[in-house]
Amino acid sequence: MGILSGSRKLEELFTNTDALPTESSKAQTDTEVSVYELFKDARDKKLINTIKLNRGSHIKYVKDGLKGLPSYLVALDASKPWLCFWMLYSLDILGDELSQDLVKKGISTITKLQNPTGGFGGGPGQISHAAATYAAVNALATIGTKEAYDLIDRSKFLKIKNKFTFIFTSGAYCVLSAATLTNLVTPELTAGTAEWIKRCQNYDGGIGGEPGIEGHGGYTFCGLAAMEIMGKTDLLDIPLLLRWATSLQMQLEGGFQGRPNKLVDGCYSFWVGGLFPLLEAIMTRNLPEKDVEQSNSEVSKYIAQSLFDREALQEYILIACQSPKGGLIDKPKRGADHYHTCYCLSGLSTAQHHVIYDFERAKGKDLDSGARSLLWKDDVTNRIVLGDPNNLINSTHPIHNVALPNVRKMIEHFYGERNF
Ligand SMILES: [Zn+2]
Repeated sequence: MGILSGSRKLEELFTNTDALPTESSKAQTDTEVSVYELFKDARDKKLINTIKLNRGSHIKYVKDGLKGLPSYLVALDASKPWLCFWMLYSLDILGDELSQDLVKKGISTITKLQNPTGGFGGGPGQISHAAATYAAVNALATIGTKEAYDLIDRSKFLKIKNKFTFIFTSGAYCVLSAATLTNLVTPELTAGTAEWIKRCQNYDGGIGGEPGIEGHGGYTFCGLAAMEIMGKTDLLDIPLLLRWATSLQMQLEGGFQGRPNKLVDGCYSFWVGGLFPLLEAIMTRNLPEKDVEQSNSEVSKYIAQSLFDREALQEYILIACQSPKGGLIDKPKRGADHYHTCYCLSGLSTAQHHVIYDFERAKGKDLDSGARSLLWKDDVTNRIVLGDPNNLINSTHPIHNVALPNVRKMIEHFYGERNF
């Protein structure tokens, strides 16, 4: 589909505003105007088939950041594992091989973030927590060497669980994702978590950070991915969640907002866009057998193509989210940062690739979460690459958000060889 490739007039796609403008409605109109101008220009110049991902300048932006960040980013001092993950992941997903020097530096930085009492902190000597530990494990998975894997002290790693799992849905996801990659998921670890996440789902379908809090793209991704890791998605109202997620794709911008009545933002390309591979897998699993077999069944057909507009999301990322100086952005007129670079690229990968769950291989087997993570496959027959065919980037794992081959490598390291 797509917005520019369609025949509708862009002017028809503006949000209807009533006679009482508010700060939010003005901000929405301003955002739409800035995206409209870029889209109109691209349509007038017929750029849609040649639009380019500026891969070289994004790689340079990340590599410059790895040499040192400007002093105004001092607030990120407690986010060292995140910076490592965002930067290394961005290079990896863009297909730029990590140099030996970078691998060494990454390992030495992350080593200093691990605490003797278990887990990783945001900086050397800082208290361990779930988010920092998740980011450190994902960075090590991206580095992908034995030395990187072996620096994780698994014996104390999960002491962070008791303190953090039940504070936010993101904490639950971070612990479960890291534990899956390192073969540490146990019944004791997951006890009570699924029931607690169920309580975080709201009447509109979104999942909040804790019970009673408004649903939000980031927390909803974390809640759903955590449930998928535990094999407990049946506890959620999936049709309601699907309705909520699809309503967040903007009709003019093509990107996602993080919750209703908010502005489009490039990072939700992953936090909301990334819900769809999970939802598609869950819905396919829940379909009666005959529907899966009948390739012409309506539901299967939609799921096979994906339940969001993959072209429209790519239009937003490629036309509105690439900073001319390199790096990716939240929305037009904003500057690039490493967080948005990582998650715009994760979203782009999710829209280009159709990563599906291999049910055939899972059938009749009682699989642990590591094995289930290995069953996600890139369906190469169903790629959609908007613009220049060289825009294709690597495929990302729908649960861990690490490149698919790196998830396999790490799981095989910690579980032994797997026949999936
Ligand atoms: Zn954002």
